[in-house]
Amino acid sequence: MVLYAPTPTDTFDRLESEVRSYCRGWPTVFKTGQGAVLTDEDGRDFIDFFAGAGALNYGHNPPEIRQALIDHISAGYVTHSLDMMTVAKRDFLETLSSLILEPRGLDYKVMFPGPTGTNAVEAALKIARKVTGRQSVAYFTNGFHGMTLGALAVTGNQYKRGGAGVALSDTVALPFETFFGEGVDTLDQLEAMLADQGSGLELPAAVIVETVQAEGGVNVASPEWMRRLSAMCREAGVLLIVDDIQVGCGRTGTFFSFEDMDLPYQPDLICLSKSLSAYGVPFSIVLLDPRWDVFAPGEHNGTFRGHNLAFVTAAAALREWWTDGALSSGVADRALLVNIELERMRDAYPDHFTEVRGRGMIQGIVCADPSLADAVCALAFERGLLVETAGPRGEVIKILAPVNIDEALLAKGLGILRSAVDDVIAK
Ligand SMILES: *Cc1c(COP(=O)(O)O)cnc(C)c1O
Repeated sequence: MVLYAPTPTDTFDRLESEVRSYCRGWPTVFKTGQGAVLTDEDGRDFIDFFAGAGALNYGHNPPEIRQALIDHISAGYVTHSLDMMTVAKRDFLETLSSLILEPRGLDYKVMFPGPTGTNAVEAALKIARKVTGRQSVAYFTNGFHGMTLGALAVTGNQYKRGGAGVALSDTVALPFETFFGEGVDTLDQLEAMLADQGSGLELPAAVIVETVQAEGGVNVASPEWMRRLSAMCREAGVLLIVDDIQVGCGRTGTFFSFEDMDLPYQPDLICLSKSLSAYGVPFSIVLLDPRWDVFAPGEHNGTFRGHNLAFVTAAAALREWWTDGALSSGVADRALLVNIELERMRDAYPDHFTEVRGRGMIQGIVCADPSLADAVCALAFERGLLVETAGPRGEVIKILAPVNIDEALLAKGLGILRSAVDDVIAK
């Protein structure tokens, strides 16, 4: 009698913590990746509409970037340097400044926190508190900013918050633009509460916002709402932190997700990570208005702030994709394809889908019943497509393909998604 049948995934079941999650929806062992395609160890290809949760905007293993990395390693250049000066770090700083900041008229100092997104958020929160001397930070319903305690305290999701095991304090939740649906300007509430001495709302140090709430269900902030938020923050002396970790680096078409919104003031702090390194190499930065460059030497620290491999890939990516507008116009074309296909699905099944929403290459279709989203993603996987859900109940099917995905492959992936939708609903 066979009691124990080894399967290709059995190692993970036996040895890895139960906390693992994405692998449960995609039960195969991946081996190689190229562009928008992941290949498993049995040679099965999967079109990737997940793109490392937005860490692989330019696809898997972009060859231009890989060569820069190989050259750096082969030449024996420094890989680890804390915050010491290295040639790779200088090149990254100069490239970011000349290709991204200067052309946009943005004036920021660059802070290197630890290498993950949540490290950037923690640093931004600490700076805002130090600058203002206030403790509270305001965030928005369904915002997602990371898993360490400070970032978790400004994250809406109850399930994730529950994992903290301690009180998540010194924060206050505000309704995001879309929280009450059409016809309610949620900033009216904030404005009234800030003005009324009896509101109970302490003046926050900062407001942290995603222009498109990605994990929270593809909730899109309008330029008007963002402009008003920017003006209100400035007037109240509250710092505005834009968390562009998932929707920056070209996801919406522009490098920063807010740059075509004509904000009255540049954000006080910007968090970038995920696709900044362009190669799946952990990397994050905080861009800070020079006035808020208040940490004394070493007051905020971290061993892996000198991640030279990421400096190399990030600088190479800026040179590859951000010297002209080709990437941005390509994003607009592809986004239209995605949007048209999602609208078709909604029109075909108005009882099952309530809404299509998104900006650029982050688009979502909202299911009336979250179990539909799960079933569609599961069947899509069986048919060779990786696509994930988002939103507080997992009710949104989120399309997050590499922003430069080949258009034929994009169409093929959308075809698989449609076939999965048709077959799940027909059942
Ligand atoms: C992913 C993400 C983070 C956290 O980044 P990690 O690298 O997972 O710590 C923070 N904010 C947003 C908007 C994100 O999408």
